Amino acid sequence: MEFHNEESQFKKALLVYRESHKSALYSKKYSGFAAPASVSDWEKIPVLTRSEIHERSFPSSMDMMTCPLEDAIVISTGGSSGVARYTAYTHSEWDAFVTAQARALEILGITRKDRVANLFIAGHFWPSFLGLHDSIKKIGAVHLPISANIPPEEIVKLCQQFEPTVMISLPTLFVFLADMANRDGFKFKNLRMINYAGEHLSAVAEQHVSKALGVTRIKAGAYTSSDAGIMGYQCDHTPSGVYHVPTHFQWIELIDFDRGCRVKQGEKGDVVVTNLNRTSNPIIRYRVGDVAKWQEGTCPCGDRNPLLKLAGRAGADFKLGGGFISMDVFENAIARHAPALSLNFQLEISDIGGQFEVDLKIEAPRLPEPLMITTLRNELFQAVPELRISEEKNYLRQFTITPLEIGKLPRSPITGKVSHLKDNRVL
Ligand SMILES: [Zn+2]
Repeated sequence: MEFHNEESQFKKALLVYRESHKSALYSKKYSGFAAPASVSDWEKIPVLTRSEIHERSFPSSMDMMTCPLEDAIVISTGGSSGVARYTAYTHSEWDAFVTAQARALEILGITRKDRVANLFIAGHFWPSFLGLHDSIKKIGAVHLPISANIPPEEIVKLCQQFEPTVMISLPTLFVFLADMANRDGFKFKNLRMINYAGEHLSAVAEQHVSKALGVTRIKAGAYTSSDAGIMGYQCDHTPSGVYHVPTHFQWIELIDFDRGCRVKQGEKGDVVVTNLNRTSNPIIRYRVGDVAKWQEGTCPCGDRNPLLKLAGRAGADFKLGGGFISMDVFENAIARHAPALSLNFQLEISDIGGQFEVDLKIEAPRLPEPLMITTLRNELFQAVPELRISEEKNYLRQFTITPLEIGKLPRSPITGKVSHLKDNRVL
């Protein structure tokens, strides 16, 4: 993708900055500030927070907008976190967003010759399905708009009938398709690549999907935020969690908020992003909530856009008996029993009169042998000392493992995700 150095990014950002003064939020936020004259001045601009965006965006407020709401698309930006939040893009801003997305897919090797199955959920303002529709059109590939709104048996049937070469969806759906393939013994004849987005796909889940669906090329989609758009894309040389930054589209700074300055090479910092294209709802120095560091050197692919290594989002751990337990321990233990057990699972923790209960619900293509469940329980108690100690001290009232038919765990009706942790405790 096109490379812009920081000086050129600064010039573009300045145009967005000037435009932002037409909005109620920014004109107040920046009042008394002289326009930044250099990159070091730029770093003094106060950051934009998530709550500012969410409280002051359409439809609850027009404060972020620099223009009337017209010729635009409204999308949801926070469907999976419980509270629905929205933002508006003008159609031309949306077009720039999907153009960058399309370029990212082309870099992964999708061409006009591909048939791409779009297996995202549509509706509820959720942008994935629509964004992919537009990106596929930009590439000139063949779009199979199957969606994940229909029953999974239908998805399989249509994919067998229309023979996609590429499938794009969430990890939850690919794990589910892998479970169905294990149960029903099918393959997708021409499928050569899987592209996933929206959730993390662990190494064990990737193996599970690759083996069951017979696909070796499984690539992560772009690093995006619905508020800021595409912030990173992968190439053939980037390992998991490493992304090229599209410098023509976003200006990313890594900030150490304790010291109040940029991080040095190799240090971790908070991702602060300025979208260089969006002026209707400007995103200027937005603290995304991710931590990352710059990777040194140039990528062997020849792309000059810098490499960002994400430290991963927090939230996959939980507290039990004084210790922090990583969900990876559960996933890895379950993976040892794949394909009999699925990697779509949910750990539910509840408080019952001062004690707690844990129920591990796991989807399974066929009802697993009781011995496998007992073995898994023993392995988990071996791997997680807090479980053993809590049981000995009588804090743990019961620990159950409940196998479920595949597809039976609750999915978010908006995104289709299965949440791996459901913590009902009042902490
Ligand atoms: Zn590269």
